[in-house]
Amino acid sequence: MSILSRRKMLAASAAGGVMTATAAAHAAVVFGNPDDPPQGAINTGGAFTDPGPQNPALANNLPSFENPPATDVGGMPVFWSSFNIAPKRVQNGGWARQVSSNAFPISTTIAGVNMRLNAGGVRELHWHQAAEWAVMTYGHARITTLDTEGRPFIADVKTGDLWYFPPGLPHSLQGLGPDGAEFVLAFDNGAAGEYNTLLVTEWIAHTPPEVLAKNFGVPVESFQHIPLAQRWIFQSDLPGSLAADQEAVATSAGSPPHPFIFRLSDMKPNKITASGTVQIADSTNFTVSKTVAAALVTVKPGGMREMHWHPNADEWQYYVSGQARMTVFDAGPSAVTADFRPGDIGYVVKNLGHYIENTGKTDLVFLEIFKTDRYEEVSLANWLALTPPTQVAATLNLDPAVIARFPKVRPEVVPT
Ligand code: MN
Ligand code: MN
Repeated sequence: MSILSRRKMLAASAAGGVMTATAAAHAAVVFGNPDDPPQGAINTGGAFTDPGPQNPALANNLPSFENPPATDVGGMPVFWSSFNIAPKRVQNGGWARQVSSNAFPISTTIAGVNMRLNAGGVRELHWHQAAEWAVMTYGHARITTLDTEGRPFIADVKTGDLWYFPPGLPHSLQGLGPDGAEFVLAFDNGAAGEYNTLLVTEWIAHTPPEVLAKNFGVPVESFQHIPLAQRWIFQSDLPGSLAADQEAVATSAGSPPHPFIFRLSDMKPNKITASGTVQIADSTNFTVSKTVAAALVTVKPGGMREMHWHPNADEWQYYVSGQARMTVFDAGPSAVTADFRPGDIGYVVKNLGHYIENTGKTDLVFLEIFKTDRYEEVSLANWLALTPPTQVAATLNLDPAVIARFPKVRPEVVPT
């Protein structure tokens, strides 16, 4: 009999007033007061009803909101969102949509943008206050930037690659053949957004032509055809070869010492278990990424990202493929569960316990993104394995032989 079913039975017995003194004493030792906690489906003895109305599309996609696990209790700020609830800004050349703290108040450290550029589509030359971290989710793109020493950087990226532009560095993006690109940006500020960036077209359009002439050292008439409104995203022709573009901007200043891109999905995993892999990119290997650390996690069917927390940053999650269920634990107690599908976003406040189950029949792939320079994590199993067993046994009423089986090296993806 599982712990849950025994606990449920004890609760039902107590409610019916038929619990024997022996059973009550046993319950006190093993499970605490069976009338406690007062909340949670654990107390319903099984089903509870919800006569409706319902929005079936949402209810069917978020079954854990509709029918929470028996041990869920309390409440916390909503930690589920999705690019699929964000409107698209569409222009010739591509589109973008965003989920910032405006629409997702818990997400104070990261704002997410999902962008599509057609083949040849350009996200115009711009810059902004926040750092921009990105992961390619589809296709091919060319990125350009310039560092503060006047050294240009141009690279082509493919699905699974990252880029990072420090705050204020100017950049552009362009979709390549055969079918352009789609990617997800993470700004290291939850209030940042893609709709209020500093745009080259707007600065040029709002500068007197004589100033432009003086600034660039060319005749004033040179600027007679400039656009008077922003381009933001626009359709252009496909660029030439990468080598040709790099050659065109070669300068005596040379090239930046660190690449602004990282091939995350090509890297050797930091962790491989029977149930999945973890690949980490932070400032230790993706050196330019000083304010964003990321982990790409793959969990096989039946597997789970183990119970853990992060001491140094909130976690912003982007779900790439498969389906998942995450439970977040906070003081209170609160334990709240939500379901995630591709395109969805999760958020876990720093130090709150959480675990993520693969609830589907295919691999679950998701990204954990943190506003920090270094990836850090504490594993519950690892902690309990490396605390004196007598203390753990006394705290949790566990057999020391059970504690001896807890992993002394954190597994990250279980079962191992
Ligand atoms: Mn940008
Ligand atoms: Mn985590």
